[in-house]
Amino acid sequence: MFHKILIANRGEIAVRVIRACRELGISTVAVYSTADENSLHVKFADEAICIGPPKSRDSYLNVTSVLSAAEVADAEAVHPGYGFLAENADFAEMCENCGIKFIGPSSQAMRLMGNKIVAKTQMEKVKIPVLPWSKTAVKDEKEAVEMAKKIGFPVIIKAAAGGGGKGMKLVHSQASLGNAFHTAHSEALAAFGDGSVYIEKYSESPRHVEIQIIADNHGNVVHLGERDCSIQRRHQKILEEAPSPALDDKLRNAMGEAAIKVAKYIGYTNAGTVEFLLDKNRRFYFMEMNTRVQVEHPVTEMVTDIDIVKEQIRIAAGEKLRFKQKHIRLKGHAIECRINAEDPDTFAPSPGKITRLNIPGGPGVRVDSAIYCDYTIPPHYDSLIAKLIVYGDTRLEAISRMKRALDEFTVEGIKTNIPLHKKILNEHDFIEGRVDINFLNRYV
Ligand code: ADP
Repeated sequence: MFHKILIANRGEIAVRVIRACRELGISTVAVYSTADENSLHVKFADEAICIGPPKSRDSYLNVTSVLSAAEVADAEAVHPGYGFLAENADFAEMCENCGIKFIGPSSQAMRLMGNKIVAKTQMEKVKIPVLPWSKTAVKDEKEAVEMAKKIGFPVIIKAAAGGGGKGMKLVHSQASLGNAFHTAHSEALAAFGDGSVYIEKYSESPRHVEIQIIADNHGNVVHLGERDCSIQRRHQKILEEAPSPALDDKLRNAMGEAAIKVAKYIGYTNAGTVEFLLDKNRRFYFMEMNTRVQVEHPVTEMVTDIDIVKEQIRIAAGEKLRFKQKHIRLKGHAIECRINAEDPDTFAPSPGKITRLNIPGGPGVRVDSAIYCDYTIPPHYDSLIAKLIVYGDTRLEAISRMKRALDEFTVEGIKTNIPLHKKILNEHDFIEGRVDINFLNRYV
């Protein structure tokens, strides 16, 4: 097992990884930007190294600074969390070359899944269902029109290097295709330095259902069931639950087996998530694979009793999985609300000083966060300030527990989306489990 791990991240996920390390008896090194001097991850880690100014590209995305910090601190491994360098195959490769263990999959597996065109092509080879698509990047408007006609409107234009919904455009008819193509292309180029886009059939009102997989370096791959992440705003998740109200054991096994097949085919190791769209006819289609720990991993931890971050570390250290598929039993129900520092009506970010704070507690409540009273949320990073996770014996118990916990959650000085979560939890269709990716557009 490692003696010292550097956490190449900030915020709640850095704290989450530090907690896992502590429990495993591993020392931790935090890295931070000058905007994060007073952050909880800096306070909680055994050592902390400043790696640059506030802008992410000068600090948390600065590969040289992060690797130098790991060398100076003599860390044996790096945990990238999610976001920042977590899905940067070049960074993973540099770690490998420097003799520092990257806690995640190999750079090779990451590369295969990092480009959505490559990933979809691979999936078709092993007969994992995908939605009709252009099979390659579309070069210009003319090609886009031809493809869209062939696939049939509505279509969605997506960036090959995509993430965070950037470079993604829904198109209902030929009239708006040209504009959408150019916008998607320039958005993708600006965000990822790669403007390649492809076209895919737009599925009307599916659910987003993803499978958590975990694989060691000894050929063992296990899935930990699904998460339903259909409650989204602008294609970004805001509330997730496990298990999905839409799945029965038969469908769960089929989707789980598909996810395992994906992982085995690309030689995937460590924790990963295979994302699917599940349509009204209960057919599922591969969307992408996330090659890192997900924001919403806690709901899976609650229903499986498996600490995914500890497993990631054990796997990276070369240990064998301590469980087989038959040992995985989903028990009860978990829900996560992403608490963002933002205006609940306009969704504009709301950074600033927290003047009063009450974190909920009591039975079945878990809060993963990096905030404290008098902490000032810097404006430079994403607006996620806490994840409120609840567990209940049944979905209905989890819902009423979440409502109770949201009532206890007090954050003053900044605005949060807590009122939005309360609204969602009171919607009849949500309570009945009738949700799809357009749920929020209809109700809020
Ligand atoms: P990103 O990597 O940018 O987050 P994803 O490919 O993961 O993009 O898709 C994000 C969300 O966009 C999905 O959860 C879903 O809501 C929506 N989406 C993506 N592809 C389609 C599609 N073909 N049909 C309908 N919705 C889609």
